[in-house]
Amino acid sequence: MARALNESTACRRHHVGPIPRQFTHGMAGFPFLSDTRFLQLPVAEPRHPYVVAGLPWDGSVTNRPGARFGPRAIRTASHMLCDATHPLFDVSPIGQAGDAGDIVLPHASHAAMQQAIQAAAIRLLGRHHTVWLGGDHSVTLPILRALRQRHARPLALLHFDAHCDTWPDHFGEPSGHGTWVREAVLEGLVDPRATVQVGIRSAAERSARDFVVDRGGQVWTSRALRGLDGSMALAPIEAEIRRCLSGGRPGDPPPVYLSLDIDVIDPGFAPGTGTPEPGGLSTSQVLTLLEDLFDLPFVGMDCVEVSPPYDHAELTASVAATLVWTYLCGRIRSKKTPFAP
Ligand code: MN
Ligand code: MN
Repeated sequence: MARALNESTACRRHHVGPIPRQFTHGMAGFPFLSDTRFLQLPVAEPRHPYVVAGLPWDGSVTNRPGARFGPRAIRTASHMLCDATHPLFDVSPIGQAGDAGDIVLPHASHAAMQQAIQAAAIRLLGRHHTVWLGGDHSVTLPILRALRQRHARPLALLHFDAHCDTWPDHFGEPSGHGTWVREAVLEGLVDPRATVQVGIRSAAERSARDFVVDRGGQVWTSRALRGLDGSMALAPIEAEIRRCLSGGRPGDPPPVYLSLDIDVIDPGFAPGTGTPEPGGLSTSQVLTLLEDLFDLPFVGMDCVEVSPPYDHAELTASVAATLVWTYLCGRIRSKKTPFAP
């Protein structure tokens, strides 16, 4: 009944539950609506090609925790996107996507977290193109294990981050949020020659900073991207990124996974994260890259390290919601031809 009541506008039609009209009138579609799903999407069903799933885990951070609250904050911030029709791609995830909720994870065991995420990923990937809301960055490794198994070949990796995440250990422990790229390469989950890192700028010894470059991939540091904004300025770099991600096989490119650590964005734009690094990319730089590279053969995305306790005015959660929405709309747009952004 409530669904029928709310089908009069795009903003209202995903509101579900037995809510009388007098309590919904005039309050659909904005952040004060107590909806808990990304873009107010319906609960995920098998008919949805795309789903969003939360990974509320921050047991593997090196500094400030709080990313376990990231999925909830990103979902709330996404309500500002209302009917979610993208102004560039002219499509909306509404009707094609659902929200699978948060994956139930342990509170403390890193190994149990990895097992739970890999099992959930295998289950979801069987039906849906899945976008993951972190969570700290350690959640990515079990997702890559599931994708490697599903696609039966090493993946290409497009990795936005202030940090290289190729350290050999987690301050004495074997695995954490700063080790997953190295682990993924050493496990054969991703092809290092088809790996691109963007926005790297943190302190790190050379062997970690250049881990990907030393194995044939690309690293575009924040310094290399300073002053480059807009499609015209970024076009030469985008061409290089495309060349690398094709893995030297333009006719049979590997599937691409997009991992986006929100700390790639300058803390001035996105302060709510556990390990902020000044001197980062602007939101528009990252958006331009995502928009222009929309037609790559992506098979999944995560947006991680949003830590709401350190956020202000929902700035960081809003950036994350916008980036995830842009990715989803790019995926949907890429299925339609012809299109040139
Ligand atoms: Mn990271
Ligand atoms: Mn980072």
